[in-house]
Amino acid sequence: MLRHSCGYEAKVLCKKCGTLLIYRERAGVYCPSCGRHVTIVCPGCGKVWD
Ligand SMILES: [Zn+2]
Ligand SMILES: [Zn+2]
Repeated sequence: MLRHSCGYEAKVLCKKCGTLLIYRERAGVYCPSCGRHVTIVCPGCGKVWD
Protein backbone atom coordinates (compact mmCIF):
# COMPACT_ATOMS: atom_id res chain seq x y z
CA MET A 1 0.00 0.00 0.00
CA LEU A 2 1.24 3.42 -0.97
CA ARG A 3 0.46 6.32 1.33
CA HIS A 4 0.93 9.82 0.00
CA SER A 5 1.88 12.79 2.17
CA CYS A 6 -1.65 14.18 1.67
CA GLY A 7 -3.07 11.08 3.37
CA TYR A 8 -4.31 9.33 0.24
CA GLU A 9 -3.70 5.59 0.10
CA ALA A 10 -3.56 3.58 -3.07
CA LYS A 11 -2.78 0.07 -4.20
CA VAL A 12 -0.84 0.32 -7.42
CA LEU A 13 0.34 -2.76 -9.25
CA CYS A 14 3.37 -3.01 -11.50
CA LYS A 15 2.15 -3.19 -15.10
CA LYS A 16 4.98 -5.53 -15.95
CA CYS A 17 4.86 -8.19 -13.24
CA GLY A 18 1.79 -7.40 -11.10
CA THR A 19 3.67 -6.81 -7.84
CA LEU A 20 2.44 -4.10 -5.45
CA LEU A 21 4.56 -1.01 -5.86
CA ILE A 22 6.28 0.45 -2.83
CA TYR A 23 7.62 3.87 -1.95
CA ARG A 24 11.05 4.69 -0.57
CA GLU A 25 12.47 8.09 0.23
CA ARG A 26 14.79 9.29 -2.52
CA ALA A 27 14.10 6.20 -4.65
CA GLY A 28 10.46 7.16 -5.14
CA VAL A 29 7.81 4.69 -6.24
CA TYR A 30 9.15 1.44 -7.62
CA CYS A 31 8.49 -2.24 -8.03
CA PRO A 32 10.43 -4.38 -5.50
CA SER A 33 10.25 -7.36 -7.82
CA CYS A 34 11.53 -6.11 -11.17
CA GLY A 35 12.97 -2.77 -10.02
CA ARG A 36 10.88 -0.70 -12.40
CA HIS A 37 10.51 2.93 -11.34
CA VAL A 38 7.11 4.51 -11.84
CA THR A 39 5.87 8.08 -11.82
CA ILE A 40 2.39 8.34 -10.35
CA VAL A 41 0.12 11.35 -10.03
CA CYS A 42 -1.76 11.14 -6.74
CA PRO A 43 -5.51 10.91 -7.39
CA GLY A 44 -6.09 12.56 -4.02
CA CYS A 45 -4.20 15.83 -4.44
CA GLY A 46 -3.12 15.77 -8.10
CA LYS A 47 0.60 16.08 -7.33
CA VAL A 48 3.33 13.77 -8.52
CA TRP A 49 3.92 10.93 -6.07
CA ASP A 50 7.51 11.63 -5.10
ZN1 LIG B 1 7.50 -5.23 -11.56
ZN1 LIG C 1 -1.62 13.19 -2.56
